[in-house]
Amino acid sequence: MQRRLFLGAGTAALANLPKCSHAQTPDLTALGAFAPPRPLAPLRASVDRIMDINVCLRPFRAQGPRIESEQRYGKHLVHHYGHGGSGWSLSWGSARLALTLIQAGGHKQIAVIGCGAIGLTTARVAQLNGLKVRIYCKQQPPEVASAAATGMWSPDSRICTTEYATSAWTRRWEWMARSSFKTYQSLLGLAEQAVEWRDGYLLSDIPFDQDLAASAHGGHDEPDYPDLIAQLDDLRPKSVLLRPGEHPFRVDHAKRFTQMSFNISSYQRLLMDDFLRAGGEIVHEVFEHPRQFGSLRERTIVNCTGYGARALLGDNSIIPVRGQTARLLPQIEVDYALIYRGHNLFMLPRRDGVLVQAQGERDFGNGDTRIDRAHSVAAVERLAALFK
Ligand SMILES: Cc1cc2nc3c(=O)[nH]c(=O)nc-3n(C[C@H](O)[C@H](O)[C@H](O)COP(=O)(O)OP(=O)(O)OC[C@H]3O[C@@H](n4cnc5c(N)ncnc54)[C@H](O)[C@@H]3O)c2cc1C
Repeated sequence: MQRRLFLGAGTAALANLPKCSHAQTPDLTALGAFAPPRPLAPLRASVDRIMDINVCLRPFRAQGPRIESEQRYGKHLVHHYGHGGSGWSLSWGSARLALTLIQAGGHKQIAVIGCGAIGLTTARVAQLNGLKVRIYCKQQPPEVASAAATGMWSPDSRICTTEYATSAWTRRWEWMARSSFKTYQSLLGLAEQAVEWRDGYLLSDIPFDQDLAASAHGGHDEPDYPDLIAQLDDLRPKSVLLRPGEHPFRVDHAKRFTQMSFNISSYQRLLMDDFLRAGGEIVHEVFEHPRQFGSLRERTIVNCTGYGARALLGDNSIIPVRGQTARLLPQIEVDYALIYRGHNLFMLPRRDGVLVQAQGERDFGNGDTRIDRAHSVAAVERLAALFK
């Protein structure tokens, strides 16, 4: 029905075109055959619309995620943690790398410790490859740290430092990113709207070819991160520089980009449903020491404890990077994301609310999970100031 309406409208528009010779191609845009883009719906960025604030810690490792196996406590133990700010984005590819190590154990039934982005996706990848999986965890969605993520396709966000990004490392990262990307394309268009493509606007006070002050790249003490994203340029449309008057924001410089995003609450619900429907089990269990792994029934154990691995294994290579997100009441008509360059400010309209994230000056190395409401209030006020 809708298709017929569209075709009908198209035929009518073409019927009104002035006659031209076969040699000439009419400029359909100039002739007004296509409607101009819809004006953007203004964001209702007001503090009284904040309905929720969450803090979670990115499990950052300078050397990148730990995907390794060892024989310990009589078990085939696979470690799979430390995905920084890219856990959701890299999850499928990373889980496929871990699967090779899991399968080397030769067991058909495995235990996964952890039910965040990495544990759940690892469990799904194992199930899809014929393994029976039981998840053991302290928290499950929506209580896990992963639930508080922004929900952007950000495979290069705080994933390692420049020093460790050798060409072999980068090839492996690229493989993970492309493998995940491919799977996410198969999750588009579902009733749950777990994964979507959206337009977004990158805003800046200074021209894009001018470097930001060091402090505007992130907070204090942030290390140097490698510039990886250009390797994936073919995976999304090119961004478009907008002239003044071509966007409604109160900044001098703007670009439009197109980006994949995740509605985290429905996406993790989808993963949980798929896991349980495929015969998966979830057991509440808190591990104080890894020797407790020895008493589990399964002989292959996959450790997906994220930031929890720091305390559980005494692994100080995991550095906390604090992140606080606020949600404004949902605004279904707002269908674009915003990134305010140099202000470390992000806005992503999700089905469960408009997510506002502002990186703090002292978030790197900061394991404080207490909510700082004033920080989110300031972020919402900064967003409000962008709308004329
Ligand atoms: C503010 C913010 C925004 C982010 N935005 C994005 C984004 O837009 N895109 C993106 O790709 N990534 C993003 N990230 C990063 C992403 O959220 C993380 O990389 C990801 O959540 C890590 O998942 P995980 O499964 O390793 O850890 P977690 O979600 O922390 O899961 C760990 C699991 O292990 C369990 N566990 C831990 N210790 C124990 C124990 N001792 N005993 C039993 N169980 C235990 C926990 O209960 C939990 O089930 C963001 C992070 C933050 C902080």
